[in-house]
Amino acid sequence: MRIAVIGGGPGGLYFAALAKQLDPMHEIVVWERNAADDTFGFGVVFSDETLGGIEHADPAIYEAMACTFARWDDIDVHYRGEVVTSGGHGFAAMSRRRLLQILQERCMALGVTLHFQNQAPSAGELAATHDLVVAADGVNSATRTEYAETFRPALDARRCKFMWLGTDLVFDAFKFYIAETPDGVMQIHGYPYDATGSTFIVEMNTAVWKRAGFDALAGREFAPGASDDESIERVRTLFAGILGGHSVVGNNSRWINFTTVRCASWRHRNIVLLGDAAHTAHFSIGSGTKLAME
Ligand SMILES: Cc1cc2nc3c(=O)[nH]c(=O)nc-3n(C[C@H](O)[C@H](O)[C@H](O)COP(=O)(O)OP(=O)(O)OC[C@H]3O[C@@H](n4cnc5c(N)ncnc54)[C@H](O)[C@@H]3O)c2cc1C
Repeated sequence: MRIAVIGGGPGGLYFAALAKQLDPMHEIVVWERNAADDTFGFGVVFSDETLGGIEHADPAIYEAMACTFARWDDIDVHYRGEVVTSGGHGFAAMSRRRLLQILQERCMALGVTLHFQNQAPSAGELAATHDLVVAADGVNSATRTEYAETFRPALDARRCKFMWLGTDLVFDAFKFYIAETPDGVMQIHGYPYDATGSTFIVEMNTAVWKRAGFDALAGREFAPGASDDESIERVRTLFAGILGGHSVVGNNSRWINFTTVRCASWRHRNIVLLGDAAHTAHFSIGSGTKLAME
């Protein structure tokens, strides 16, 4: 089969690696518009169940991932000076950058063709010359929009604002800090991704976000890859008590609203949606990458 994959995120790359192993005769090409080492975000979390699935599907990918995992069991909720701990969960996490590297290397070793810094031809063009087109083109999927009549997507932009940041504070659990500020409740979702850092997501209701003055910083144009540094500086000050002198850094980080994506169908002729293009999972359950790969 000739297979075209639009998007070299975790979903597209993992699919390409597994499909090539099912039949090495498949000709598989992945188009990724970013450079190989360009990525947004920091860490991604996997549960023990998901890791079992990856180990079963491709032990080589699993082995490479297992070398870099941060592992922990607890979920700590910090609220009004108390910590409520729920144990025995079994989480592992790693940096998104390292995950993409592992998947890219595996694809190349198996003979998948990867085109970086290449906008893919449209799904319609690819469908005419390939047996199968996998549209793993992310939450804002152009393929989903192009064939909206078949996929019938429902996009639900939620009301909270959040920003995906990183810190060199290495948490020892999945951390939820509920902070009661003069402007209202703000929440931190923190989890380690390796021995050097943690993901640090700041989330709040839009009304709180406005009262805190973040809306005054909104509406600006950012260069590709740039972060909202003024907001990040304010986040550093607001959460200095949690950070204890550690830094907070951005990577293509801006205030956004989470969009729940649901589709009535994931297939249009020989074009199939995969990953965030087809469905999203809220970041608080740390499962978007898992769902894109499963
Ligand atoms: C704040 C935040 C925190 C998150 N935390 C977690 C977490 O802890 N754990 C977790 O599992 N998930 C998490 N997620 C979700 C996770 O990032 C996504 O679910 C996951 O990346 C989906 O993978 P994907 O391959 O479907 O899409 P993506 O990772 O979005 O990849 C799509 C790729 O397609 C490329 N592309 C798009 N259009 C084209 C085109 N026309 N031509 C070429 N390339 C194209 C894009 O450049 C991109 O690289 C989080 C998300 C957010 C926003």
